[in-house]
Amino acid sequence: MANKEKACKHCKMIFEGTSCPNCQGTEGTDSFKGKITVIDSENSELAKHTGIKSKGIFALRLR
Ligand SMILES: [Zn+2]
Repeated sequence: MANKEKACKHCKMIFEGTSCPNCQGTEGTDSFKGKITVIDSENSELAKHTGIKSKGIFALRLR
């Protein structure tokens, strides 16, 4: 069975497996809307807007 993408409930990072590589949280949901890829959070307007401070793929909205 393939791992399913989940969005971390704490930091919204999208991850596969059992825990979030960004905050080590284990609570994820597969009910999320939209994805953004943050490469340079310092210079990304979208990252500032969403409050993301690290790089990676994040969900825009959790349900
Ligand atoms: Zn997280």
